[in-house]
Amino acid sequence: MMTENPDNALARIRFVLVEPTLGGNIGAVARAMKTMGLSRLELVAPKQLPDAEALARACGADDLLQHAGIHADLPAAIADCRLVIGTSARRRTLDWETLEPPETARRLLAEAAEGEAALLLGRESSGLTNAELARCQFLVHIPTNPDFSSLNLAAAAQVFAYEIRRCRREGLSEPTGAPSNALSGEPARDLATAQELEGLHAHLADTLRDIGFGDPDSSKKLLLRLRHLFNRARPDRVEINILRGILSAAQGRKSSKRPTPPTD
Ligand code: SAH
Repeated sequence: MMTENPDNALARIRFVLVEPTLGGNIGAVARAMKTMGLSRLELVAPKQLPDAEALARACGADDLLQHAGIHADLPAAIADCRLVIGTSARRRTLDWETLEPPETARRLLAEAAEGEAALLLGRESSGLTNAELARCQFLVHIPTNPDFSSLNLAAAAQVFAYEIRRCRREGLSEPTGAPSNALSGEPARDLATAQELEGLHAHLADTLRDIGFGDPDSSKKLLLRLRHLFNRARPDRVEINILRGILSAAQGRKSSKRPTPPTD
């Protein structure tokens, strides 16, 4: 039997199920992933841990269930990811660039050549919240009958898993708008992880409060706009450090002050 080299990009692409309700769906997602060579399943606050129904629906993908990470919240499940793509059963606003599954697969694989990447799948009842989507660099919608657009969670996972496999087999993962500059020969950028971006956003929120910029209500909207800005810009770690240095200076923290240039 042919087996796959475990040390490949597929191992760096995780599917994150956010608050799944049904054990059966968790098992069916594990099966969908394993058939396509994906292995990394993460669960955020599942309503129930993988149960007998999950095992039955996994049909032998038990190892994915056994090794599935269980997290109290979304930030913990994606902390080390440099690319996070959110899924949506509905077409949403223009705040995010909306991809289709083939481009999503290309981007996940291209990113996985450099680091960790995540695809977020939402609750069976209500999908992903806007706050969860605000942590994503891209949104993806599987084009469907506009009058009946919601796939079963595991059916959606199967579409994405298949696209990733197809893209990898066909060598289509050369990215358009690459995270690294593989095509130009420039060194790969050391993109910030989700956790580092969260650090920036928390620091921005603190700084706005400290410097009295806007009232709390309007700064919520402002902070969301800033999230969109940084999700599009995809800053690297040095850029995050520069921005945080500037924020610390705005907060009047002495340690961040640059030495005063000589006056003469
Ligand atoms: N009523 C929910 C549907 C949730 S379906 C809503 O309107 O958002 C459960 C999950 O399956 C979604 O969160 C998403 O992760 C995935 N999904 C279902 N249909 C999809 C589609 N057409 N495109 C992308 N993801 C889809």
